[in-house]
Amino acid sequence: MERIPQHSHCQICGKAIPYGEIVCSDECREKYEALVKKRKMYIYIMYGALALLMLMFVLMYL
Ligand SMILES: [Zn+2]
Repeated sequence: MERIPQHSHCQICGKAIPYGEIVCSDECREKYEALVKKRKMYIYIMYGALALLMLMFVLMYL
């Protein structure tokens, strides 16, 4: 079995890429950035919903 030097895999298509890289091509980079943006959006929405819930609790006890 051939020893493979330390490497990563493309986060989008899974292709082997040099260690430290995230994606293999510009196409995959675009897809990856869109994915990250979407994930960030979900996190903001979650924090927003949590803040709203806390605000509701505070208002209920006032
Ligand atoms: Zn790729």
